[in-house]
Amino acid sequence: MPYEATVDKQKSPTPSINFLSAGDIIKARKTLLKWHSVHGRKSLPWRLNHSPYAVLVSEFMLQQTTVTTVIPRFSAWMERFPSIHDLALAEEQEVLSAWEGLGYYSRARRLHGAAKGIVSDHDGVIPKDEEALIKLPGIGPYTAAAIMAFAHDKPAIVLDTNIIRVLSRWSNLNHPIDTSLGKGRLTAIAEKFFPPSESRTFASALMDLGAILCTAGLPECTTCPLQKTCRATDPAKLPKKSPRSVTTKLVEYRACFQRDGLLYLEQSRGPRWEGLWVLPELGNTKPAGRSIAQITYPFTRYSVTMKVHKVEGVVPSGLRGFSAAELLLLPMPSPIRKIIGKFPSMGGCRETANKS
Ligand code: SF4
Repeated sequence: MPYEATVDKQKSPTPSINFLSAGDIIKARKTLLKWHSVHGRKSLPWRLNHSPYAVLVSEFMLQQTTVTTVIPRFSAWMERFPSIHDLALAEEQEVLSAWEGLGYYSRARRLHGAAKGIVSDHDGVIPKDEEALIKLPGIGPYTAAAIMAFAHDKPAIVLDTNIIRVLSRWSNLNHPIDTSLGKGRLTAIAEKFFPPSESRTFASALMDLGAILCTAGLPECTTCPLQKTCRATDPAKLPKKSPRSVTTKLVEYRACFQRDGLLYLEQSRGPRWEGLWVLPELGNTKPAGRSIAQITYPFTRYSVTMKVHKVEGVVPSGLRGFSAAELLLLPMPSPIRKIIGKFPSMGGCRETANKS
């Protein structure tokens, strides 16, 4: 049955998963794949090399980090740890150091843990079933589905940010996608639209459509391959989300101990930056005098202003001194590296800051 004859956009704001006939769905898949064969992002490094290990690494990196940021770091990572065995055998400090610039270091630890688990429990072979994947550190339902589709080309419903946006608009989903009702509807729509085979190509096509045409903000509907079947009445307002929690402002004070060309740092015990080298904390009470540097950075729902104060006297035990050259190789969180680059007396660290 033709789509226009079965749907009244004004009267039916809530999508039914039956809003298209089977024939229309097949046509929509075909036009999408045709568009993708011409416009798809085929040169992404994890598409050129879609070995299971490359897919595993890229999926961990792409959680909460943009494609542009990931591309150079992914390539450097694959040179440094070319196989899952190389990664499993690496020291944690080396892994954290290679992760620098990607943020959320717990992902690096979990990827390291997953590599160790795959080597010890699966002979180094990345599992081909979602249940076994989900048992590995850092692999939730989304990453498991992505590995099934992109690494093994097995049927899987992949729902990343781009695909969620495309499907929400395509079906005119008016339920917030972070509620169980919205998630259930979206999954039902995806199950209907994803084909039983060609999962790798189809998921890539939907993702690329979201990245290239059906972008956040105003989509380019006039050139979209799904335009004929798309139900969106006001696409810029989709997908809907529940009201956001307010960003809370925080201030943290840190110490600068500099003696004889060395900067003294401590190794964080976490949980946020566990194992990384940081400037020692001074607590939440404002120290006397002016700070020598400050930056503001986002962390989950917080906006954190870090202020650094020079501290004279004896350097506390437990701190270690590093030269500017040593700092370059030290695993440290991006905000710490950036603020060290701002120290008036740390000329060598400016290079460090530019590197991150
Ligand atoms: S027609 Fe527009 S809103 Fe619908 S899927 Fe295409 S780009 Fe997105």
